[in-house]
Amino acid sequence: MTELPKKTKDEKRRKDEDLFKVVDSTIDYRTYLNLIQIARRLNIEEYLGAISSGKEARIYPAKTFDNKYYAVKIYYTSTAQSKRAIKKYTVGDIRFEDVKVTNTKQLINTWAKKEFKNLSRLYEAGTRVPKPILVYENILVMEFIGENGLRAPLLKELNDEEITQELYDDLIQQVEIMTKRAKLVHGDLSEYNVMVYDNKCYIIDVSQAIPIDYEDAIMLLKRDLDNINRFFEDKGINIKPTEELLIEFGVS
Ligand code: ADP
Ligand code: MN
Repeated sequence: MTELPKKTKDEKRRKDEDLFKVVDSTIDYRTYLNLIQIARRLNIEEYLGAISSGKEARIYPAKTFDNKYYAVKIYYTSTAQSKRAIKKYTVGDIRFEDVKVTNTKQLINTWAKKEFKNLSRLYEAGTRVPKPILVYENILVMEFIGENGLRAPLLKELNDEEITQELYDDLIQQVEIMTKRAKLVHGDLSEYNVMVYDNKCYIIDVSQAIPIDYEDAIMLLKRDLDNINRFFEDKGINIKPTEELLIEFGVS
């Protein structure tokens, strides 16, 4: 048996840096080290440039050595508004009873963990969401929705002729599964948090989702459905009034 030559420290460092196609100054050192560990675990060859940077998180495609892609969501800040929301939705939530929400870093990590738990609960209940892969500190890895590192469009980004009755029915069916089987309410559902791939709706961005029996959950579900209905009605689709949908979902 021949032994492989040991890599020098320099060679190894060069290799880790090769993981990042685009150097991103918003990634702090701790996150950077965690990304290297995750790459080893998931066979990731490289992280590509961010496809989005929202208020609280950025999404990066990650390409594996066998040419598959993951979506990597990195939470990097926590606005005053999200801090309030995290406290509201985690303190008193039995699923997060042992989570301390004292400092900002922990808050951000809790947000990532919460999105992972919600994604898992939705995925297991059969809702079309990106398959959750792992969460570590402020990093969430999930299935990539799209092809060859090119993300699928948001519902918001479709051309008018792509917005069909079938698409509406499909989305409503997903919300029904979410409500009846996963027993979760999204809470921020709109044309901005639905991706469309292969004529099917994928519900994304579920960090703020809450159980249906929580205070305000029904009100949030009503708002989610109103948002979807308003969007599709504007495009000339036959919609079902929110009140009827709530009855069908068994929450009214
Ligand atoms: P934010 O909190 O910034 O709104 P989102 O979870 O909505 O975070 O993701 C931001 C954007 O990243 C989405 O609008 C979408 O374009 C892209 N995106 C999110 N999840 C995925 C995924 N699983 N696969 C591919 N692209 C994604
Ligand atoms: Mn979003």
